[in-house]
Order: sequence, then C-alpha cells, then structure tokens
Amino acid sequence: MTDCIFCKMVSGEMKPDIVYENEQLLAFRDINPQAPVHILIIPKAHISTLNDLKDTSLAGRLLQAVIKVAAQEGLADDGYRTVINCNEQGGQDVYHLHLHVLGRRQMRWPPG
Ligand code: AMP
Ligand code: ZN
Repeated sequence: MTDCIFCKMVSGEMKPDIVYENEQLLAFRDINPQAPVHILIIPKAHISTLNDLKDTSLAGRLLQAVIKVAAQEGLADDGYRTVINCNEQGGQDVYHLHLHVLGRRQMRWPPG
C-alpha cells in the first residue's frame, strides 16, 4: 500500500531504527516511546488490523519475534508488555498491524 507509513518502512522509503528483521517481519523502535523500551513488530505484508490476520503461521512468527526482541533488549526476566490495538475503540492509529513491546518500567493495570 503506497500511502501506508509502515509499508514505506518495509520498502525502505522510510528508515526506522530497526532492531530485528526476517523474511516475514520487521521490528523497529517506536518514534514516540511510552516506556524506556518501546518496539513495534510488523508483518512485511500489509495487514490492516488484527481482525485481518488469517495466517496462523504468521501469527506464531509475530509472537516468536516478541519473545526474541524482548530477550535481545534484556526484558525477558523483569518482564514486559505486548499490546495490539485494534480499530477505533482499541486505540489503533496506524492501520498496518503492529505489536507493541514495552518494557523497562513498571506497567499498571488496567491500561487506559
Ligand atoms: P497504534 O496507536 O497502536 O496504531 O500505534 C501506532 C504507533 O506507531 C504509535 O506508538 C506511534 O508512536 C508509532 N509511530 C508512528 N509513526 C512512526 C514512525 N515514523 N516511526 C516509528 N513509530 C511510529
Ligand atoms: Zn502497510
């Protein structure tokens, strides 16, 4: 999708701060971090929302990437939070599926 900001990161038109990449997905630092570590993991294919994630293999790979990135960032033992915002009431702003990985501070519950 030419007008999708995250597709531009996949194509190389935009240059995010990449922390991990493989054939199916890309992980980069959030431009407006909500925690000392805040990473976004996106599928390279344009998938608008979690509702559109039909590929169970890709779903598993996205979760595996969360685990890998959390370990790489030194978050695994202390803990971290993974968030997927879906559609308007879920607070989704960018309509290319992404998993947030937030860490290195104490998280609260319930989220806002
Ligand atoms: P969401 O509200 O779940 O759709 O989250 C979108 C996230 O994308 C927000 O945390 C933004 O800070 C982040 N974001 C938007 N533009 C960029 C960008 N150019 N580089 C990195 N992160 C971005
Ligand atoms: Zn996209």
